[in-house]
Amino acid sequence: MIPLSIPSLNGNEWKYIKECLDTNWVSSVGSYVTLFEEKVAEFVGSKYAVATSNGTAALHVSLLLSGVEKNDYVIVPNITFIASINSIKYCNADPILIDVDSETWQLDLDLLEQFLKEETVLDKGTLLYKKNKRRIKCMMPVHVLGNMCDMVKMSDLADKYGLKIVEDATESLGTTLNGQSSGTFGEFGCFSFNGNKIITTGGGGIIVTDNEMLAKKAKHITTQAKSDPLEYVHDEIGFNYRLVNILAAMGVAQMEQLPKIIERKKEIAAFYYDALGGIEGLEFQKINKGTDVNQWLFTIKLDDSRAILKKLIHDKIQARPFWVPMNQLRMFKDDIYYNHYDKSDQVYKSCLSIPCSSGITDMELDKVVRAIVQ
Ligand SMILES: *Cc1c(COP(=O)(O)O)cnc(C)c1O
Repeated sequence: MIPLSIPSLNGNEWKYIKECLDTNWVSSVGSYVTLFEEKVAEFVGSKYAVATSNGTAALHVSLLLSGVEKNDYVIVPNITFIASINSIKYCNADPILIDVDSETWQLDLDLLEQFLKEETVLDKGTLLYKKNKRRIKCMMPVHVLGNMCDMVKMSDLADKYGLKIVEDATESLGTTLNGQSSGTFGEFGCFSFNGNKIITTGGGGIIVTDNEMLAKKAKHITTQAKSDPLEYVHDEIGFNYRLVNILAAMGVAQMEQLPKIIERKKEIAAFYYDALGGIEGLEFQKINKGTDVNQWLFTIKLDDSRAILKKLIHDKIQARPFWVPMNQLRMFKDDIYYNHYDKSDQVYKSCLSIPCSSGITDMELDKVVRAIVQ
């Protein structure tokens, strides 16, 4: 069996976790949480980082601190993992789903610009959806598969229309645009350390921001909003969203290996580009100029993707289809889906992620290629 993408735990994970167990610092307090936050902030070049129990919690809290309230709208691509939309719904807000670009598979910025021009109106600095005058508060770009849309252009649109940006950067740790890390273009960036991400803490997430007050607030509401160091006084409804020390210890060990893992992911991608390039009808994800992608999960686009998927599974090669577009899920069928050609559906039906664990061998890579080509 060749797995799709499994963690690489070849560093100091055992050592640091053992230290937590030996010293009894296993839970919500301990030095590894702070160290992990410092490491991630340094790596992405943000001033602050606040660790959370998972990426979904990071998104939820970032939206709340961006001022998203009941009945607000948040702009988001129609192709993403469901957690992006769920985090919007947790705020009692609704998504405005924007169709994706058929080449980058990211939110289509031209379509977004058209939507903002034609479907919204600015009223004393507040952006309203014309049809029902509900407020649009925020945009959540999702850096699908570690790639990015043009975040400079999106930031310009955000400025022009008075929108906040929360980046769902959960898949894109290590990706940069013109040297600037994903997650640092918006007011908040959120990363995930779930088992299938580029590095993992088993489960975990982190919020990055340059705003000190917002970082403090994020820490506060992810740790039950306790406002007195001794007495159990809480000043608002908080959440138990903290990352525990034992997992942060694993995170520190993983951060030490991240540059090596990214390097290996890029080698794997280069192998596939070479071996599968030029095959009639097979496309790779387009990467915009200036973007350096972490190559988290290698994905190809081809018409008979589902037949190939079956063949790979039959050959004991793990592969996975792309997410069902959000507008096709029953919970979101009444939400706004802005599109001209429903490219999401075509991207969804033809994309296929293939094995790319950083520990994959050359022989295994050859086997994957042969199974696809033959
Ligand atoms: C993984 C992921 C999340 C959620 O992260 P968790 O840590 O699993 O909660 C959110 N959005 C996208 C696009 C993801 O891939």
